[in-house]
Amino acid sequence: MRFQFLGTAAAEGWPAVFCNCRVCKEAARLGGPNIRTRSQSLINEDLLIDLPPDTYMHKLKEGLDLSKVRYLLITHKHMDHFYPQELTVRGWAYSHDMVSEDLEIYCAEETRDYFTLVSGWELEQESAVHLHWHILHPFETVQAGPYRITPLPASHMQPGNEPFVYHIVDEEGKSVLYLHDSGYYKDEVWEYFEKTAKTSGPVSMVSIDSTSGDRETNHGGHMGFSEVFRVKKRMEELGIIGPDTLCVLNHFSHNGHYLYEEMVEIASRENCLISYDGKVLEL
Ligand SMILES: [Zn+2]
Ligand SMILES: [Zn+2]
Ligand SMILES: [Zn+2]
Repeated sequence: MRFQFLGTAAAEGWPAVFCNCRVCKEAARLGGPNIRTRSQSLINEDLLIDLPPDTYMHKLKEGLDLSKVRYLLITHKHMDHFYPQELTVRGWAYSHDMVSEDLEIYCAEETRDYFTLVSGWELEQESAVHLHWHILHPFETVQAGPYRITPLPASHMQPGNEPFVYHIVDEEGKSVLYLHDSGYYKDEVWEYFEKTAKTSGPVSMVSIDSTSGDRETNHGGHMGFSEVFRVKKRMEELGIIGPDTLCVLNHFSHNGHYLYEEMVEIASRENCLISYDGKVLEL
């Protein structure tokens, strides 16, 4: 499995769109892995996780053929993960010679409804017929082509919303826990980790929300580094993280303060990797 981080920032990007704080200025000065766009990842060439407003930039920067994406997985409807209008230019007169005309979209019902609300009026029927929506429910596994996907309820957003994190397994048994955006996991998610570890062993990679950086507390359903390391320890105890599991910290905000080199130093002591835009991992 080829896993690529395309965008690794929280909602405002880093440097943030309208910000002049110290770490935004420093990130702009240093450049490289300190420049972070909105959250998105790609598995192989056909499974895209989230559709943020920076999707087009990711296509340009990484030279992607997004018409190869057959499966789109959406975590939740926050704008750094889902910019619905982008789908109105998929197909019809807007996209020629596509590799896959059809797109299978997996998300919560509220995410699909949000798409209809925001983009329904703009969507041509010729494009709409190629968008196939699959409504997900917590812990109900679905098969998306070669991928087995289980949505898990995230600790994120107000009650009444249904954000998901995901457990994704390919045909060779390579597996990813993609845990954005979420604060400390719910009891039933920990139970799922325990059960999965017992039946299938450790996952190949885990990507953990680390938005709050140097802050201890949970700010709006995210985690700081110290909480991330406590979560990692508990996951190791359950066996869902094993000695060969790649543990990646991802989804960063200027409000977490750590710049890239600082993050790498802290994370390496805990045997973790730090994501950056464009980073590729072969699992
Ligand atoms: Zn986010
Ligand atoms: Zn800032
Ligand atoms: Zn969010």
